[in-house]
Amino acid sequence: MSSNKVGFVSLGCPKALVDSERILTQLQIDGYEIVSTYQDAQLVVVNTCGFIDSAKRESLDAIGEAISENGRVIVTGCMGTGDDAQDIVRAHPKVLSVTGPAAYEEVVGAVHQYVPHTPVHDPYTDLVPPQGVKLTPRHYAYLKISEGCNHRCSFCIIPQMRGDLVSRPIGEVMNEAERLVEAGVRELLVISQDTSAYGIDTRFRTGFWNGRPLKTHMQALCEALGELGVWVRLHYVYPYPHVDRVIPLMAEGRLLPYLDVPLQHGSPDVLRRMRRPAAAEKALERIHHWREVCPDITLRSTFIVGFPGETERDFALLLDFLREAQLDRVGCFQYSPVRGAGANDLPDPVPEVLKQERWERFMALQQEISAARLQAKIGRTIEILIDEADAQGAVGRSAADAPEIDGRVFLDGVGGLQPGDLVEAQVTGADEYDLWAG
Ligand code: SF4
Repeated sequence: MSSNKVGFVSLGCPKALVDSERILTQLQIDGYEIVSTYQDAQLVVVNTCGFIDSAKRESLDAIGEAISENGRVIVTGCMGTGDDAQDIVRAHPKVLSVTGPAAYEEVVGAVHQYVPHTPVHDPYTDLVPPQGVKLTPRHYAYLKISEGCNHRCSFCIIPQMRGDLVSRPIGEVMNEAERLVEAGVRELLVISQDTSAYGIDTRFRTGFWNGRPLKTHMQALCEALGELGVWVRLHYVYPYPHVDRVIPLMAEGRLLPYLDVPLQHGSPDVLRRMRRPAAAEKALERIHHWREVCPDITLRSTFIVGFPGETERDFALLLDFLREAQLDRVGCFQYSPVRGAGANDLPDPVPEVLKQERWERFMALQQEISAARLQAKIGRTIEILIDEADAQGAVGRSAADAPEIDGRVFLDGVGGLQPGDLVEAQVTGADEYDLWAG
């Protein structure tokens, strides 16, 4: 066995995935080979998720498996800070090192320490494709535009784990986007903790892309990305007034008409206790305005039911909000406390059975809304980006579907397609999540 083989386990959200990609890219630049079995690896890196308790359990299990199967394990990621880091060391004292999220240099340094390796002469051109290493299929890629978050939502410990907002320079983001497109990526998914806050920390500093001045600002970024000729999808956008200015870009076809807006609740009192950003920004008015400017816009959101102090009246307001907002795609979580979060000290916890009951009522209503919105697409011709294909048919996504979290479009009996192809087809059927087209 050669001595420069590293295994990698990547858990968690798209932001963690981007961290994994950066570490993998650097390791390959440094001449390490990434292998897919514990047995072939000299050492295993586990990138953990610490967002909620079930994710922490999954992370601890993954570390335990890597230790029993390989024995030499470096841990990084969201679970690698504070009390959680101590839990890791307590549960698995054999781990070689533990670091927090976005600790690229420390992780790569630890790999060098435990698997010493002399870099080859020109590793970048020899070993790594110019777009870096991607864990997503070749035709779509996540583009992380910032780290950290300036908000302090009471249920969330991400700012404690990842720190305050740090925006990447716009020139660097655009260069990465351009490289990805040149390498065959057909869809860019813009991610961060708060995409609408991009550039605030730099006071919207002017950067340069291909010699052209560009402000570090969400609108300038969207306009520039819209020039690349691929699908551009925005995630984690809060309903601030300035977001209105990117909706015309969607109506003009320069960005996908899609916004992922994590709203979390419809009751002003609950939003206040959650300390949500943009809680007072009149989300419903904003949504109606967006639909006037861009009638085809798909709106996705996530909500939490059973937050401490949520009354039946608060919950009724949330259901009213759903009826009025007519969102296309919605995720709903039952509130669960996260160690270290301010919300843990709030009075009036909602009993588990009531959380479950509210969650079921929420889901029943939203499924009706989502199904009706999908039914309304039957007969329309839509563009589909193909994700998987064989001789019998293909599966893809429309502009309304982000990978992993939204629905899919099934093209039964349509052969001759390849992942990454963009095709048009007429919608022939729908259920509450997916479409069929031919
Ligand atoms: S906006 Fe709120 S929920 Fe999102 S990362 Fe920041 S603090 Fe956490």
